Amino acid sequence: MMIQTVTGPVDVNDLGRTLVHEHLYVSFPGAELDPKATFDRPAFVAEAVRRLTQLRVEHGVRTFVDPCPMEMGRDVRLMAEVSEKAQMNIVCCTGFYTEARGLPSYWRNSTVEQIAELYIHELERGVGDTGIRAGAIKCASEGQPTMTEGEAKCFAAASIAQQATGVSIITHTHAGLGGPEQQDVFERHGVPLHRALIGHCCGSSDRAYHRSIAGRGSYVGFDRIGLTHFQKDEVRADCLVDLFRAGHSHRILMSQDHWCALRGRHGSPSDEAAIKAAATQANNPWGPGFTHLFTTFVPMLLERGLKQEEIFALLDENPRRFFAGGPSGA
Ligand SMILES: [Zn+2]
Repeated sequence: MMIQTVTGPVDVNDLGRTLVHEHLYVSFPGAELDPKATFDRPAFVAEAVRRLTQLRVEHGVRTFVDPCPMEMGRDVRLMAEVSEKAQMNIVCCTGFYTEARGLPSYWRNSTVEQIAELYIHELERGVGDTGIRAGAIKCASEGQPTMTEGEAKCFAAASIAQQATGVSIITHTHAGLGGPEQQDVFERHGVPLHRALIGHCCGSSDRAYHRSIAGRGSYVGFDRIGLTHFQKDEVRADCLVDLFRAGHSHRILMSQDHWCALRGRHGSPSDEAAIKAAATQANNPWGPGFTHLFTTFVPMLLERGLKQEEIFALLDENPRRFFAGGPSGA
């Protein structure tokens, strides 16, 4: 089974240690119109290459999945340049963000079939005229209590594209809610649930929530490690070990949802203060680094009794199995 990276296809068995949800560059729609929101591309490339090289050399990471929604500043040529210079596989995604913060009106007013056609084009032929193909689909919902009409259309389109191309789906949920609804929608549209990573589950401290999502066969994202304004890492570690001990170790995916550069302001004012604090913590104009998982969170799991090899299986084996799909995903 091959997966598309921004520099070409890679056998899933060669993905190696993988972070399944990180970002290089994020720009909320409209930031490009803000004269104060400048972006120094050469400086960004240098910093991103430095960070990814450090991840590869010091922590053995070989693959960096950037599920940046297509309207959030996704720049696949920029990703390809960083990938080549840092010698790191980078996987980009097709798919839109939430209706409140993304989903441009043109596509919000399109049909499910038109959106699916766009996704399939990006997966099979490439993004725009770049020839760079997406390797997975991003889906996002935040509508409470249920997803919005526009989000539901994107989930339906993603389901069509998943079944047409066989790639995996990476989702965004908000505040550790909405995962079961996403699973319901995928199930209704015929997507095998092991093809979906339900993202940001670590925003919830409800162990029954995690067990229920894993029990239905999806991958459970502990993928905001270090974003402590959403959840304390101690709680994430306790919940992860609980899920592991409950027999769902093969469904856990760890990552950080960090970014190297954010252009201008964050599109969500409620998150902005916390994000500024995180950037200050990093003590530079760039976003939080990518090594926190290894330097801080892995030791927390060791303290809680997981073995080194058990922890690294979550980063080495689980992403390979997730992207490979397989008949049952077991
Ligand atoms: Zn993200």
